[in-house]
Amino acid sequence: MKKIAIIGGGAAGMACAALLKGKASVTLLERGERLGRKLSATGNGQGNVTNVNMGAEHYFTDCPERLSHLLERYNTEKILRFFEGMGGVFLPDPRGRVYPASRQASAVTDLLRRELSRAGTDICLGARVHAIEYDGDFRLIWEGGQMRADAVVLAAGGKAAKNFGTDGTAYALAERFGHTVLPLFPVLVQLKSDPAAVRGLKGIRADARVVLLRKEKERFSCRGDVLFTESGVSGDAVFRASSYAAAGDLLLVDLLPDVPEERILRALATGEGEDCLLCLVNNGLGRTLFRRAGGDRAVIARLIKQFPVPVTGTLGFDYAQATRGGIPLAETDDSLMSAFRRGLYFAGEILNVDGECGGYNLHWAFASAHAVAEALA
Ligand SMILES: Cc1cc2nc3c(=O)[nH]c(=O)nc-3n(C[C@H](O)[C@H](O)[C@H](O)COP(=O)(O)OP(=O)(O)OC[C@H]3O[C@@H](n4cnc5c(N)ncnc54)[C@H](O)[C@@H]3O)c2cc1C
Repeated sequence: MKKIAIIGGGAAGMACAALLKGKASVTLLERGERLGRKLSATGNGQGNVTNVNMGAEHYFTDCPERLSHLLERYNTEKILRFFEGMGGVFLPDPRGRVYPASRQASAVTDLLRRELSRAGTDICLGARVHAIEYDGDFRLIWEGGQMRADAVVLAAGGKAAKNFGTDGTAYALAERFGHTVLPLFPVLVQLKSDPAAVRGLKGIRADARVVLLRKEKERFSCRGDVLFTESGVSGDAVFRASSYAAAGDLLLVDLLPDVPEERILRALATGEGEDCLLCLVNNGLGRTLFRRAGGDRAVIARLIKQFPVPVTGTLGFDYAQATRGGIPLAETDDSLMSAFRRGLYFAGEILNVDGECGGYNLHWAFASAHAVAEALA
């Protein structure tokens, strides 16, 4: 049986090992003391594993054609069949985001762990691989251990959220074989703003519509949660916008997307002072808007429909959910094997593929694991 080493016991590595059940002798090497720590924290702990609206248009990559082809082959149905084949039940929410019926991300990790135990996968925890050598077959080295393998799957994640073991050091393992590492950026992350622009709003959450403008041209818009913080804005809609944002952009937040401006003006005309905002917006938000507009009803209405948040940047990798950049997809083939070293494969976030908020990054982790496992099996 082929001996395969998988580096990284996250979403992609665990899925790949599970898919190779009975088809190869697999060792899964994880630097942390537990498998799937990041997976267990996804989707606010609920595990948004994929999305019913799947397609390359939801992703950023250097090689959209290959990605498109892979996503058609390893589509939502295929990923759900994989999980349901292990005994899980998964359901979409009204926005198309798919979660385990239990709404527990940790249960997805447990499902994969159970499968690995059934498969008899050799699991090596506390093994941070720091070198891969090649002399006809592969030799992987970590502190206190080493092993030989016929093939290696590099599924060590990106640089986002290093508290889950992903600090970006694993890219060097691929560079050693001649791979490029495209510039890395944190994505799905809070947007920073001038603190004065969001003063008095910290902690306020709204179901809003956001429009991201660059030089007055719309770059992105969507509807979802916006949460004001001390230094900017966060929340689901902002995470989605963060994929397109850069310093100098302007984010306009429509705090009442279902109410036209004229109706807001009519409501504002009926009350005295700050009371004019009663039942329109959250009281704390109302007080801030009233003060900022100097009580001018037309300015208040405009602030409600187009609250301006000048973007000064994003928070760093430690606060991001995903990484843009990494190993170019173009430096692999359709089975995600390295163009430079036969037998070396990539899966998951280490590749230059990042998706929108909504289950797209985990889908890529599982879809890429399928591509690699099918080639290896
Ligand atoms: C808080 C949070 C919430 C998220 N929520 C969602 C969501 O709801 N839906 C969604 O689609 N995506 C979500 N994401 C993104 C998603 O979790 C990642 O894109 C996905 O986990 C990437 O899978 P991966 O297997 O490539 O990497 P990871 O899951 O990051 O796993 C990589 C593993 O490799 C290990 N490793 C690294 N280097 C080495 C080494 N040298 N040797 C051995 N092991 C190594 C790491 O310890 C880690 O366990 C979220 C991310 C975060 C941080």
